Order: sequence, then C-alpha cells, then structure tokens
Amino acid sequence: MTGGDPAPPGALHQPGLYLHVPFCRNLCPYCPYNRVPFDEQAFASYERAVTREIDLCAPSLEGQRFVSLYIGGGTPTVEPEGLLRILRHFQRRFEIAGDICVELHPANMDDRCLELLRDANVTLVSVGVESANDRLLRAIGRSHDGAAALDAVRRAVAAGFQTVNADLMFALPGQTLGDWEADLDAVLGAGVDQLSTYPLFSFPYTELGQSQGARAVRRPPGRLVRAMLAATDRRAASAGLERCAVWSWLRPNRQKFSSITRHHYVGFGPSAASMTGNSFLVNTFDPDAYSRTLPALRPVALSMPVDRRLELAYWLYWRVYELHFDQAGLADLFGPSTGLPLGLRCLIRLAGALGLLERTAGGYRVTTSGAYWIHRIQNEYSLRYITRLWGAGRRTPWPEAVTL
Ligand code: SF4
Repeated sequence: MTGGDPAPPGALHQPGLYLHVPFCRNLCPYCPYNRVPFDEQAFASYERAVTREIDLCAPSLEGQRFVSLYIGGGTPTVEPEGLLRILRHFQRRFEIAGDICVELHPANMDDRCLELLRDANVTLVSVGVESANDRLLRAIGRSHDGAAALDAVRRAVAAGFQTVNADLMFALPGQTLGDWEADLDAVLGAGVDQLSTYPLFSFPYTELGQSQGARAVRRPPGRLVRAMLAATDRRAASAGLERCAVWSWLRPNRQKFSSITRHHYVGFGPSAASMTGNSFLVNTFDPDAYSRTLPALRPVALSMPVDRRLELAYWLYWRVYELHFDQAGLADLFGPSTGLPLGLRCLIRLAGALGLLERTAGGYRVTTSGAYWIHRIQNEYSLRYITRLWGAGRRTPWPEAVTL
C-alpha cells in the first residue's frame, strides 16, 4: 500500500458505513486497535473533523443506499452526547437503510447512554465483556470487574436492542478450561443473542507486546484451544445459539452483529478503512493529523488498487469466515457467469479433500474441523497483516508505503 491520492470510488455493492472513535478512558495494554486517552478538547476537535469528512465525501456518494452503519473504536460511547451528534449527521447526509451497530464498553454505558442509542435507532450493540473473572480481567488490565460487565450485558438486553452481542476473550494467560466454561455460562445466562469469542493476541507494537516481547505471551496448547472451542459450541447450542462464523454464535432469526463482512464499505475517522470496489484505503491513524487535514483534503494515508482477482479472494476470505459460500452469492456480486480463479478453486478442492469443507446444494460449508483450522490460520494472518499495517500507521501519520 502506498500514500497518495485515492481513486474515486468504483461501483459500490450494498455498501456499509463505518465510523472509528479513537478514544478510551482506560488503555488496555494488549489492545491492537487505534486508540488514545480520552480528552474533552481532543474529542471536540475529532467531532469537528469527522463532520467535515462526512461533508467532504457525501457529494460523491449521493444516491447511494447504505445497508448499515457500524461504529467501533476505541470506545464509541466515551462521550455519548458527542457520538449522538455525529450519528445524527450521518443520518442527515447518507441514506442508511439498515442496522446501526455500536460497540459498548461496560464502564461507559449507563442507562441514559442506552436510552440515547435506542432513541437514535441503534439496533445492534456489542458489549466488550472479555471475561467475568476478576483475576483474568486484572491480568489483562481492564478497568471493570466481572460483576460490572455482566450488569452491563443485562441492562443492554433489557433496553430492547434487536441483537445484543457479548465479546469474550479466551486463551488468556493462566485461563483454564473451567474458567472459560464459567465465563460462557455467565454471559449466556445473562440473555445475550450473540456470543463472539477471540483469543488474546500479542501484537509487537502494543504495550503488552513491547513490555513482554511478542513471544513471551504463550499461546495455549492447541488441544486446550480445541477444548475451549468445543465447550463454546456445546454451551452455545444449549442456550439456543447456532454457530454463524468462525468465532461467533447467534440466536436464530436475529441480525448478526458484525463489523467486517460487508463487501464494500466507506470508513470515517482516524485509521478507518474503506473498500470501494476499486481501492482499499486507510485513513491516517493520528487524530491530530486527521483533524488538521480536514476539510481541505481527505485524510487517506495509504491506498491500494484492488483488481477483480483480489476482490474475489477478499470476498471468498470473508465468506469462509462466515462458514459458507455459494455460487448464487458470487453471481449476485460479480455477475452470473463469474467463476473463481483456478488457484482458489484448487484451494477449495484441497480443503474438501482434507475434510475442512463439505458441499451443499449450491456451494460449500466449512466443517467444525475447518472452522478450527481457519481460526488457527487467522491467528497468523491477523498477526502478520495487522502488525504491518497498523504498526506502520501507529508509527507515523503518513507512511510512504507498507508491504503487506
Ligand atoms: S480493548 Fe477496547 S477499551 Fe481497551 S483500549 Fe482497546 S478499544 Fe479501548
């Protein structure tokens, strides 16, 4: 990816909008996301800049219908009234026909905040519980205890959102299978519609990565990870949830809370990415550089052309993550006569022979064993790709180039 002017957006297919809010009241040492300490003045300058970025992009996206708005961070509700003003501006400038999704932090979501979100038509929320175990929460540097996290989930469920997701982290230092099962029971017992699980990564550029070295945080043995995923499958099924992605389980007939599975999307805010049909773009990570650039220029720090082959591979990657793909989905997006390139077809055949995929009427489904191996491969993929891209973005506001 290189710096420089991005190409104008190509033809967008059912695109989503994304907003990144880069502020948190407590910076967790393991966190790989782009976030800085909350400060009222910095938030005011960010809010002004996001409004300008929206105004700058809106004319070129006129007439486009967006299927969702996803708000992530950082902690989106770190300043709820400010978030609401930005959200209203999105609703004024874009046609948002689908869900509005917001990530919540247990320590920044009082009842007034939940009421504001409901009034603004937010439909799907995700609470970053991470664990209900006080020892583990202390070990990873979270600012809340287990009781506060579970209370936050119960209040979100009672507030009446369409879907309430809870994030739980596994493979934490010293976490046993029993600890994990207790966390699953606590969160499922609080009435969530969706459960998303992810392992502790140690990215070299995070405080955790720098203080201990990436290798010092040992990944638990493969058999323990397998046992944790199997326990998740069993307990989620007993609570009426079905697996809907490599790391997620969802109650039937509920809308899935998901940040990354829209094919095309346009991102706003520091470090927000966009996939626009012919380009993949990433905004500058630095909130000050972001604010200074607007309204004169778009704050895009890195861009990469996306050709058809790469776009097909990108589509397949996320469909595999969602555990199924078929010819109808491919045709809907790329045209009726589109097939996958030879290299991807060979990969699918090999995965089928290894028992990782099985055929369905019009396509393929990822097996339980396939889901485990995708989880392992994604660990590697995430560590390498995110370390390079996000590491460079955090080092300098305007990197000259990044090799992925
Ligand atoms: S994990 Fe969440 S709350 Fe913690 S620093 Fe990262 S974005 Fe902020």
